[in-house]
Amino acid sequence: MISAIDDPEILAGYNADALGYRGSPAGLFRPRDARDVQEIVRWCHEHRHPLTPTALRSSTTGSCVCHEGYLISTEHLQHIVDLQPERRRVIVEPGLNLGDLKRELQKHGLFLPPDPTSENECTVGGAVACNASGARSLKYGAMRRWVRRLVVVLPDGEPMEFLTRDVDKNTTGYYGFQDPIQFFIGSEGTLGIITEIELECLDLPPDYIALYAFFPDEAAALQAAVAIRDRQPAVRCLEYFDDACLELLRRDGGVALPRPTGGMLFCEQEVPAGEPDEILLEWLDLLEELGALVDDTMVGDTRARREEMKDLRHTIPATLNERGVQYRAQGGGKLSTDWAVPYRLIPEVIPHVRRFIRREKLAAVYCYGHIGNGHPHFNLLSADAAAARRAETVIHEMCRYIGGRGGTITAEHGVGKVKRPFLKYMFPPRVMHWMRSFKQAVDPHGIMAPGNIFD
Ligand SMILES: Cc1cc2nc3c(=O)[nH]c(=O)nc-3n(C[C@H](O)[C@H](O)[C@H](O)COP(=O)(O)OP(=O)(O)OC[C@H]3O[C@@H](n4cnc5c(N)ncnc54)[C@H](O)[C@@H]3O)c2cc1C
Repeated sequence: MISAIDDPEILAGYNADALGYRGSPAGLFRPRDARDVQEIVRWCHEHRHPLTPTALRSSTTGSCVCHEGYLISTEHLQHIVDLQPERRRVIVEPGLNLGDLKRELQKHGLFLPPDPTSENECTVGGAVACNASGARSLKYGAMRRWVRRLVVVLPDGEPMEFLTRDVDKNTTGYYGFQDPIQFFIGSEGTLGIITEIELECLDLPPDYIALYAFFPDEAAALQAAVAIRDRQPAVRCLEYFDDACLELLRRDGGVALPRPTGGMLFCEQEVPAGEPDEILLEWLDLLEELGALVDDTMVGDTRARREEMKDLRHTIPATLNERGVQYRAQGGGKLSTDWAVPYRLIPEVIPHVRRFIRREKLAAVYCYGHIGNGHPHFNLLSADAAAARRAETVIHEMCRYIGGRGGTITAEHGVGKVKRPFLKYMFPPRVMHWMRSFKQAVDPHGIMAPGNIFD
């Protein structure tokens, strides 16, 4: 079996996630292939050593670092095993960069829809393990929808293949067990190590339009978002940026945006080749009706410009994460939410949670994200420990409120180690116990990714 690396200098490079959440691994395995993975897991199983998968560590929940046992990195498992353009299928190893895979597929006229803004900084395996999603998930759903088959090395070291059952209807047993592959997607490393992934793709859409629409205030932008989702079923991406984010884009991103405005929506819609103008005019009429500052609307006139408009979104979390990491030394940092509610509640829920923020007098607050899915991100930046404590209070209040409104406390980043305290706002103790019992059935010695999801 390959041996574990315990050189502190090397370990230091694997010891923090994107928000600076740190661990303390005893060592690091870097398997070269799936057989190595099996041997390592079998050894950990026999000796009861905890083992946490780690990929590109773009996690923002501490899920890819460990406080006990070993890390196992997927960095050498980066191959495209098989690409079948005619079947629109691709089989890959888990450590492949998601952005690289999407670019390779594009050469074959294929399109893999999930688009976390971190797609160039994360792996396919990490995205499956977190059930990642992105702006275009409004139309295409999260990673889960595109996974057709997984090979998982279970916590005893045995590999097992799981297929998606492609039937329209199913009444065989409990829903969760009808398609056990679903347990492993989004399991955050707690049920085994994914060593092979088969994904379904689509043909590349011929063309699309993209626009930034500005509104006089937040209330108008949020009402418009709901109306757009209801009235433009073809919209594939509907993202919100509050005024603080727009200011950050002007200052830190060097982007020329109109001012003053009270919020912006970013919208994309796929269009048949050669028909963008007609559809654009319909959009402008709709936006005017919804109270947008139509003269300020910015339209992506070339494909490159449209891609740029989408990529700009990444500036916000990337800049705020960097600042958060800097503030960590003073006891501060960035706390972010990724709760979601039924989208029609958004115009009511956002003003309500802003009251929690005002009560705790938080100064640096940024709200942006997947408003069309009822899924905004609040990023709370704290310069010191006192502000961080107040931000934590706000996040608790938000999650309690969201749980009570039929929402979820995390819609794409997962629970990891950071969001465990909020699970109680969604699941009664008995349901937590059932979930823990399932984890115990798969991983009786609790070696896989301890601390993720469960205490
Ligand atoms: C700036 C920024 C923007 C982001 N934007 C988005 C976004 O738009 N949407 C979104 O969903 N997320 C987003 N994220 C979060 C993050 O990028 C995703 O969760 C991503 O899927 C993590 O992939 P990774 O390869 O970096 O995995 P890591 O962070 O290394 O690991 C994440 C989890 O996956 C597990 N894991 C990794 N590989 C395997 C494997 N082979 N088998 C089993 N478990 C495994 C790890 O144990 C861990 O629990 C963002 C992060 C940053 C920093």
